[in-house]
Amino acid sequence: MSTASSLTMRQAALRIVRTLREAGYTALFAGGCVRDMLMRRRADDFDIATDATPDVLLKLFRRTQKVGVQFGVVIVGVGPHWIEVATFRSDLAYADGRHPSGVQFSTPQEDAARRDFTINGMFYDPIRRRVIDYVGGQRDLKQRVVRAIGEPAERFAEDHLRLLRAIRFAARFGFRIEPRTAEALAGSAAGIRRVSAERVCDELDRILAHPSRAEAWRSLERHGLLPHLWSTADRLVPHVGETVRVLSDLPRRISFALGLAAVLLPMGAADVGASCAALRTSNEIRKAVMWFCSSLPQVLDPRALTLADLKLLMARGSMDDLLALAGAVHRARRQSLEAHRRLMRRVASILPNRVAPPPLVTGTDLSDWNIPAGPIYRTVLERVYYAQLNGDVCDRAAALGMARRLLGLDARSLR
Ligand code: ATP
Ligand code: MG
Repeated sequence: MSTASSLTMRQAALRIVRTLREAGYTALFAGGCVRDMLMRRRADDFDIATDATPDVLLKLFRRTQKVGVQFGVVIVGVGPHWIEVATFRSDLAYADGRHPSGVQFSTPQEDAARRDFTINGMFYDPIRRRVIDYVGGQRDLKQRVVRAIGEPAERFAEDHLRLLRAIRFAARFGFRIEPRTAEALAGSAAGIRRVSAERVCDELDRILAHPSRAEAWRSLERHGLLPHLWSTADRLVPHVGETVRVLSDLPRRISFALGLAAVLLPMGAADVGASCAALRTSNEIRKAVMWFCSSLPQVLDPRALTLADLKLLMARGSMDDLLALAGAVHRARRQSLEAHRRLMRRVASILPNRVAPPPLVTGTDLSDWNIPAGPIYRTVLERVYYAQLNGDVCDRAAALGMARRLLGLDARSLR
């Protein structure tokens, strides 16, 4: 018997399939997890498709979430896992190129036909251990192609996010995009403008965080999607060559923020912030991206960096990523790495407990001297702290002296 915590997601999904079978329904693994299994990759999630309707699912399972019930989706909890169980369905007409106007419960064949690409359109019966493939997904997996199910142009017109998904899957698996699918992709590229910024951003996250990010960026440009990703993305097109070199030089596993910063580098600081806003990234991501882009010039030309400058950069906590980005940019520009290597040695020589020590002088000291509240506090405290980080003032007496000098107070009348 496995305990709840050691239960794998696959085992949890299998339990759901068994329960449905015992109640007389059909239940199959569906979509991406079947593809991943056939490719011998670890699936991130297991989706189940069934002929049981949502009301049946809600009665049959004790722990459920109803978030997608109107689309025939119930999320079922088994141990620590939450698994999507969806009733076989066909999507009704897409009026807006974004959402189906509704869904109709239907057969496994029709459920396969509504999915985007053949490699994503298969089912697997985990009890009989059989792949159920109505769309030629196995053939396309063998031939390593991403092929739209049905008429490619129509499928992209229904939901233009599929444009980005095609590029993501092709780059991730190193597959070709089948010629008619590729032709439709290029022909519909501008349609990506109709997709909500949140969905585009979510796809970009998956694209840029993945080791295949460089191939994907090249492919976005080749297929004409790049200029349409958000309002100012066209400015990135002339820089694609360098961006691809930077992306392929970054470590395999990186955060979305670092990946996004790497592609936005050719833009000026204001446009970096505006691009994040246009993509509706979280504030946290936007701040991180802006920090990478605005700090990079200092790190690319490190000669003027003082010890205090370095500590202030390190205190942000993403210095390794910033250095990786700088190294990638140097190599992409085929510049000498000598100064960069020296910088890395300097950074490595700074002890962690020296990066952000508590300040020797604080606002309390200034208010004890009856300095009226105002911007002067920040100016003085920042300058004294900078001197402290730089090793120019080493103890409290020296720091207090400096603050009093900056304030024009008599340095000799120290407490
Ligand atoms: P990943 O490994 O990135 O999660 P996935 O194939 O599992 O890839 P999901 O977004 O999790 O992708 O979607 C699960 C399945 O739902 C897909 O395999 C596909 O069959 C179907 N699907 C998802 N998004 C779409 C879409 N926009 N249009 C058509 N079918 C889709
Ligand atoms: Mg998935």
